[in-house]
Amino acid sequence: MQTTINETVSFDGVGLHTGVPVRMTLRPAPAGFGIAFRRVDLGGQPRIPAVWDAVVPGALCTKIAAPSGASVSTIEHIMAAAAGCGVHNLTIDIDGPEVPVMDGSSAVFVAEILRVGLRALDAPIRAIEVLDRVEVRNGDAMARLDPCDHLEMAFHIDFADAAIGRQDKTMSLANGAFVHELCDSRTFCRAADIDAMRAQGLALGGSLENAVVVKGAEVLSPGGLRHHDEAVRHKMLDALGDLALAGAPLLAHYTGVRAGHAMTNALLRALFARPNACRIVTASPALAARLPGAGLSRDDAPRVV
Ligand SMILES: [Zn+2]
Repeated sequence: MQTTINETVSFDGVGLHTGVPVRMTLRPAPAGFGIAFRRVDLGGQPRIPAVWDAVVPGALCTKIAAPSGASVSTIEHIMAAAAGCGVHNLTIDIDGPEVPVMDGSSAVFVAEILRVGLRALDAPIRAIEVLDRVEVRNGDAMARLDPCDHLEMAFHIDFADAAIGRQDKTMSLANGAFVHELCDSRTFCRAADIDAMRAQGLALGGSLENAVVVKGAEVLSPGGLRHHDEAVRHKMLDALGDLALAGAPLLAHYTGVRAGHAMTNALLRALFARPNACRIVTASPALAARLPGAGLSRDDAPRVV
């Protein structure tokens, strides 16, 4: 059955790029509602549905906007947490322009969602079954969806800095794998890029506490890496969050090669532009058991530092 969270949960923090302090509150929502943000600091509290065609260009993040222009940016880590925990319906109230970065991963969001637990709603889960290959390319970057009876991901990155280098990871997202393997991997950047990002008004809320900063072979963030391949794991976390804007769980094998937020959104646009590339299916109990959040409990919550 579709789910929502049992109780309201709030997060206080700053936006990674804007540095603006915000409070974000997840509230239960009814079956069929999907996930929508609400800018509670603006007049009329405009609602911004978290769907692929609400995405507008955003630098180094995923940003959605309502027709009125009200927007929320850097939604990918909370969207990944919702998708990875199997939450289908949520209202996300926020009193500023950007989701709080917390520790740079989805771990804090996942821990709170699993702590309050999920409530089953009286409606079946609908999933999006990919029926044919859809692919987008841009230079040496590529993103692709192929048919699969559950969600699988394969990602490849290649950075000059030896602390990242080449990393490949392929995994099934069934059996709570997002929570166990991906959710605590943090966003990362190269020390050499920080001045340029700040000059463009980006990464103003970034610090060594909420991002992995690398310089050549060195990891500057205290405590080092959480996983030797934390960077590619984070790219998969981002991809799950961006794919969640399909509006329902995807049944597909996703491949990303150096793909970023804009490319994953272009992939969804290509999927929905092509007739017969996908169809909506009602999840049988067997299919529902293969979806990313199935079978998780409070005991699976990541330890949050
Ligand atoms: Zn990210």
